[in-house]
Order: sequence, then structure tokens, then C-alpha cells
Amino acid sequence: MSIAAFPGSFDPFSAGHHDIAQRALRMFDRLVIAIGVNVEKKGLYTAEQRKAYIEALFAASDRVEVCTYEGLTVDFCKSIGATHIVRGLRNAADFSFEYAAAQANKAMLPDVDTVLLPAAPELAFVSSTLIRDVLKSGGDAAPLLSK
Ligand code: ADP
Repeated sequence: MSIAAFPGSFDPFSAGHHDIAQRALRMFDRLVIAIGVNVEKKGLYTAEQRKAYIEALFAASDRVEVCTYEGLTVDFCKSIGATHIVRGLRNAADFSFEYAAAQANKAMLPDVDTVLLPAAPELAFVSSTLIRDVLKSGGDAAPLLSK
């Protein structure tokens, strides 16, 4: 059985994240959306708020689980028996970061492969940072949050 971990900050979970998760669900038996918690970094939303939001989005799918984790993604992947790591690529900056991260994770956890999915063209501009900026300025972020 294939189990993909989709790790990220998800502060908040955007339409771009949602698209990657839905596409990953077509490729893998199970998808674990894993909210990485950095105790030194205070986000806009708490880990519990992010988890509740994502769980509500995927309430209809029994193949999706939402978790929070601290520490290394590879350690989390080991703990859930992940076969793959899924990440999204919006641009060249994402590529250089994600490629290096994939290599590092492969060196630490050789049995787990990273699958990098290019962003949907209409969602490549969406980022959690942009959504937080819109929300902080009192704007309507709905089009950036769900498709
Ligand atoms: P992190 O802080 O770990 O990068 P993010 O929540 O910002 O966490 O992103 C998680 C993953 O989703 C990353 O691989 C990122 O490149 C990808 N991603 C973010 N926004 C989009 C988008 N609009 N389309 C596709 N992938 C995206």
C-alpha cells in the first residue's frame, strides 16, 4: 500500500495545497497531510486550527489523515510508514529548495521517494504568505483558500 506524506506549514492551507493534495490522492492509496510545527515560529493560525481546517476540507475522504509533527520530516515519515513524500513546485525558487530537500531526505531515508508536483497554472501565484497579507489587511482571501 502506498502512503504519501504531504508535509508543510499550511498557515493557512491554500487552494494550491488543496490541489496538490487532491492530485496526490489520485496517485497514492493514503495521504497524510502533515503540519510541521516549529515551536520557535509563531504562525497566524495555531497547529490545532490548521489541523481542524484541513480535516473539515477532507471530511468526506477516508483516505486522508491530518497530523501535526515536530522535528525532522524523515522521522515523521518513518513513524507513519510513508512510502513517498509529496511537495509542490510553483517556480524555480521552489525547485532549488525542494530538489535539495528531496536529495537530503533520500540520503537519510533511502526507501522513501519524493514526488514533486508542478503547481496548477492558475494557482502557481498562491502562497500562504500572500493569504496572510490579504487577511491582515482585511481583504477577502476566499479565492486563494479554495478552488
Ligand atoms: P513549507 O513551509 O514547508 O514550504 P508550505 O505550507 O509553504 O510549507 O508549502 C507546503 C508545500 O506546498 C511546498 O512544497 C510548497 O512548495 C507547496 N505549495 C505551496 N503553495 C503552492 C501552490 N500554490 N501550488 C502548488 N504547491 C504549493
